[in-house]
Amino acid sequence: MVVKKIGESLKDQAFLLRSVPYGDDHRILSFLTASHGRVEAIALGARKSARRFSGILDFLHCLEIETQVPRRGGLTQLLHCELREPYEGVRADYEATIVALKWIRMVSRVVPEGQSVPGLFALLQEGLSSLAVYRRDWVDVVFLRQLLGRLGFLLDLSRCVLCHRDRAEAFYFSAEEGGLLCEACHRGPKVQALAGAIPGDFWERESGASEEEGDWVRASRAIFAAGFRHYLGVDPE
Ligand SMILES: [Zn+2]
Repeated sequence: MVVKKIGESLKDQAFLLRSVPYGDDHRILSFLTASHGRVEAIALGARKSARRFSGILDFLHCLEIETQVPRRGGLTQLLHCELREPYEGVRADYEATIVALKWIRMVSRVVPEGQSVPGLFALLQEGLSSLAVYRRDWVDVVFLRQLLGRLGFLLDLSRCVLCHRDRAEAFYFSAEEGGLLCEACHRGPKVQALAGAIPGDFWERESGASEEEGDWVRASRAIFAAGFRHYLGVDPE
């Protein structure tokens, strides 16, 4: 938790996570910032005039914001904001936009006000840049996996977590064990099967790969969704 001094203004890069109307004229905004975690601020006059903040207070924009705790006390105020990166490649693509907005919603649900998750801001930047270029469903899987990892639940999907074998007829995900179990080690109902273990993290994967790979991406996504539900009580789909 960062201690803010009264009257001191603070500059940071930020993504908008949440925006709710406040009174007739204002908005209360939540930002994920690069250096100060999740920060809440009031944007005075933002409802009345879009020009007040140059109309850039939008999701999927990387912003440069300046905030200040008023000397008289009260809510932190947004003084100024500038557009750093509009991620036009994502905005131009409907499906990519849907995926990106889902990420913003999830981050908003798992990071409380005042809390900081190291590496999360950079992960969003990297994810949004990759989403505009590489295979979307794959980038989504990598993002979900890395988000879980940064929240303290890094799943080992490279081998069986019990016997450490990396080749088997099938692997099954176990949220309790925090990874994959091979057929021999797995007991109980077999829910999520994977033909092979999942390799390390990399964003680069071209579109239009084989149908088999599509199955594999879907299976991995189901695994991370199960992880989010089990560990954080959040459904990413
Ligand atoms: Zn095993």
